[in-house]
Amino acid sequence: MFSGNVSRSLAGPDRSATEKFAPMSGYLSEIFVSFQGEGAQVGERHLFVRFAGCNLRCRYCDTPYSLDRHPTWQAHDPATGKTSTLANPVSPEELLRLVAHFQNQDPSIQMMAVTGGEPLLQAKFLREVLIGRELDLPVLLETNGVLPQQLVAILPGVHVISMDIKLPSNSGERPFWDEHRAFLEIAKSRKCYVKVLVDRTTDPGEVEHAARIVSQVAPEVLLFLQPIVDAQGHVCADGETLVTLFLAARRQHEHVRVLPQVHKLLGIP
Ligand code: SF4
Repeated sequence: MFSGNVSRSLAGPDRSATEKFAPMSGYLSEIFVSFQGEGAQVGERHLFVRFAGCNLRCRYCDTPYSLDRHPTWQAHDPATGKTSTLANPVSPEELLRLVAHFQNQDPSIQMMAVTGGEPLLQAKFLREVLIGRELDLPVLLETNGVLPQQLVAILPGVHVISMDIKLPSNSGERPFWDEHRAFLEIAKSRKCYVKVLVDRTTDPGEVEHAARIVSQVAPEVLLFLQPIVDAQGHVCADGETLVTLFLAARRQHEHVRVLPQVHKLLGIP
């Protein structure tokens, strides 16, 4: 499927030698084209580059295959519908060639969504990809919002930031209030929005606390309450729950919206 240098360089026999001298390489999980299903860019045609590895283990994670690094990753070709298995790690040049290939296959792509996993765990590689290279697409960074210093390193290469605020009552993780506040202080210099995932187990007090942080740090930023969807595809928040959580957020912040994951409603990746 992928012609010429891209597929040969990723799968070729001299791969170990390439790695030895590569200045920086990254671990990916998959690359594909779809409609953006979340947040402020919803409905746009995006090229998704999913990074491998995450520093969190949220109970509701819907991309468990991206939580760890693996020797291979998947490329889903938009023109043929075929999936290719490629080798990790990948050099910045290899990824950029692949991005250009996808753009040629689907000129309707409006943005490159860098997602995960947690892409900021590979900030050095990301910096190599995004800054000072010929990347002919605006970049959306989708992040869990707990690594502010890593964000600083790649900020010049990012156009839009989608950051989470994680709630301990539904993520199962510890609170990250200070990290989220510091992250938003930096992220607000770009176009930015915040996602808070919610379900029936969500503590309204935590939603209110998250909304207070957004209101204090970046009062014009949109805050999305995103209902969690379980592995069977069921939405885990009923209408009454959503109204309760919406009101909790609105007590602290003006710009609040409830938005489900549209790609899941459509049954697309
Ligand atoms: S931060 Fe995102 S990728 Fe990581 S475990 Fe949580 S939901 Fe999954």
